[in-house]
Amino acid sequence: MNERVLPIQPHAATKSYVCPGCTSQIAPGTYHLVVIPELDPDLRRHWHRGCWFRDQRRQHGKSVDVGNPPNLNRSL
Ligand SMILES: [Zn+2]
Repeated sequence: MNERVLPIQPHAATKSYVCPGCTSQIAPGTYHLVVIPELDPDLRRHWHRGCWFRDQRRQHGKSVDVGNPPNLNRSL
């Protein structure tokens, strides 16, 4: 399923969300990502940036060049 990934700037993040990657809260005013399934936009989810990229890397089983330092696997 195709998904659109949009960045949410801090000034646009006016509500708190629960990140499905780490089940922690994304506080208002936090830069994060919203992931919108193209076929079902109602199922959009809000992710911490780091959690999203970590999940993508896990799903696809290979490195995705996102420029992150290799210290994101502490919870694995
Ligand atoms: Zn998270």
